[in-house]
Amino acid sequence: MANPHLGFESRLSGVEKLVYALPEKANAELAQMEEEQLVVNQPEGLLVRYYLAKATISFLLQDYSKSQAAAEQGLAIAAKDSSEALQLNLKVIQALLYTGQSEDAARQLDDILKVAQANGDLLVEAEALLTKGIHLNNQGALKSSYAALMSSLEAAEASGHDDVTGRAAFALGQLLLKLNGFERSQIMLQEAQRFFETRKMSFSQMLAQLDIAELHEKQLQKEQAIVAYQSALKLARVLGDGRYRFRINLLLAGLYQELGQQHLMQQHMQSAEELQHREKLPFYIAKFQLLKARSLLDRNALPELITYLDKTLPDIVNAASNYRTQVELIKLAAEVYAEQGDYQKAFENFRTYHQQYVRLNSQEHLQDMTRQQVLFDLERLEYENHNLNWKNVLQRMEIEEAQHTVSNMAQAMVWLSLGVVSLLLVSLWIYRSRVKWGRLARTDTLTGLYNRRYLTEWYHRNFSKEGRLLMSRQLAGNLARVADFWKTERSQGAGKHEQAEWDGEQTGKIVGDALAQAGQASFTLILADIDYFKNINDTYGHETGDRVLTQVAEIFRSHVRSSDVVARVGGEEFMVMLPNTGYESGLRIAENLRAKVAGAALELENGTTIHITSSFGVLTSNPSEQDFTALCSKADELLYAAKAQGRNCVVSLQAT
Ligand code: GH3
Ligand code: MG
Ligand code: MG
Repeated sequence: MANPHLGFESRLSGVEKLVYALPEKANAELAQMEEEQLVVNQPEGLLVRYYLAKATISFLLQDYSKSQAAAEQGLAIAAKDSSEALQLNLKVIQALLYTGQSEDAARQLDDILKVAQANGDLLVEAEALLTKGIHLNNQGALKSSYAALMSSLEAAEASGHDDVTGRAAFALGQLLLKLNGFERSQIMLQEAQRFFETRKMSFSQMLAQLDIAELHEKQLQKEQAIVAYQSALKLARVLGDGRYRFRINLLLAGLYQELGQQHLMQQHMQSAEELQHREKLPFYIAKFQLLKARSLLDRNALPELITYLDKTLPDIVNAASNYRTQVELIKLAAEVYAEQGDYQKAFENFRTYHQQYVRLNSQEHLQDMTRQQVLFDLERLEYENHNLNWKNVLQRMEIEEAQHTVSNMAQAMVWLSLGVVSLLLVSLWIYRSRVKWGRLARTDTLTGLYNRRYLTEWYHRNFSKEGRLLMSRQLAGNLARVADFWKTERSQGAGKHEQAEWDGEQTGKIVGDALAQAGQASFTLILADIDYFKNINDTYGHETGDRVLTQVAEIFRSHVRSSDVVARVGGEEFMVMLPNTGYESGLRIAENLRAKVAGAALELENGTTIHITSSFGVLTSNPSEQDFTALCSKADELLYAAKAQGRNCVVSLQAT
């Protein structure tokens, strides 16, 4: 007699292997097993595994209520506080989190975490921390998310469950991508990708490839992005996932268009068009609408394009567009209407475009700055504490967050660093993450300022020719067009379009602001060097020298705007980057810094007071073709000239 359990058990094992690789297929197999009425009269242990698999698969397929129901069925039979029960509980919580019932779920999650830690159940601990990290990320609590994910990674590695390690590395890579921590994000995502590949977890592998592609796109590495999207597309085809095939074709079409490869663009647009009905997310729908309009324009199908715009635009314009692609579509429409001689519509759309462009840009700018700060704080924390215990960090972050609101973050981080250091002294250090990064140091440890490496990166990110210039040239072009329209309209008889409330000057100002934000405006680079600093060291000792450096750093930091970047780029050399700052104001700021340094007095313990001065080279330039190294050596020449003129002075130049 064949053992009926054997059939069930081996089929269940088959499903378990497929969970992450082919969730759709695993789901079909589960349905088949139910149809054959296999899921009755089985030993409890097997049934618990069955429900866990079902809950996990439904979760992956985003059927949260089904996932929750399966997990609850499993919970009814699993032994209380067993590892399986905790895992099922986690599934219930995940479903709650994804369906917006997060308050209660977050508390339950912490309960599970406590039980898992008490039981020494590293697998559940890692899973719970992973869930927590992802949830915190979705909530925008990026710092705590990072601490939770790092703890998850550590627990996963200690548990020996590679699949959790892979998923934790993936989540961490995604978080770092959000924070623009490109180098480390890439390490994590590639590690996750490789892991998913060896385990044939194709679905996760595809998601990892997509993030890798996005990572390249964010860094304007278009060819590499295409390679990654192509791999993702291959996987989506194998998986038979229409929704992702739609998305990837769309993303590829966009990139090919940017690269001017019209043929390939049309090809991918066509594939996307066929799969369009699969998509529900507004982000992708907006991208599709823009690319569709662009492809019609490329094919010169103007009547079709006008019909399409008339149909899609009203919703977008009225709904105060949230996506860059929607704003771009409005601009495209304005251009098309202008081409057709429909100036009324062209005006209206240009105006909407400019307003929304400015709004979106400042939103993105603010978000970028905040995230940059988060990344910076985290890196400093790691840099200063080599063996961080992330679980303690997480706990402290949560206490901190409960006590303060975000405003006191800088202070909180200092407190936190101190707390962690003392904790490390009393507690024996547990385990270290395998994934350590050697190139964390973006901060100068003595002064807490950025270092040269960071400044160089920052420059390339903000003033690279490709990104910034493209944007500002487009805007400049628009400004010229708008001005043209305006002139023609006026000469052809004023009053005709008065009802359109068109105001050329106002638009000029809007565009001007946008231009400044886009980095077209000039920036100023200040290079400063303390005068006769060697004498300070020689007379008072190196320690006093260090204190002088810290004090000068503080003077610099506190007398520039928050959008400026101050770095210590050499022993007693400092550099300040002032974006959107012209010659006059750059010079004024440098003069002020010089005066502040010269006016400061450092009290020594023995009662003597030290006064120092510093010399400045100031260079105003445009972000055009300038290479950072070339800029630095120009600034260096100016500084040298200031030294030659007797020190404690500013020598400046407006580069053309
Ligand atoms: P000048 O006005 O021409 O700039 O004269 P200077 O003495 O400042 O110039 P020089 O470059 O000859 O000397 C720089 C000194 O800075 C030499 C070095 O000992 C000291 N120095 C570099 N880094 C540090 C540091 O981290 N701490 C301290 N205390 N001194 C440093
Ligand atoms: Mg020097
Ligand atoms: Mg010096």
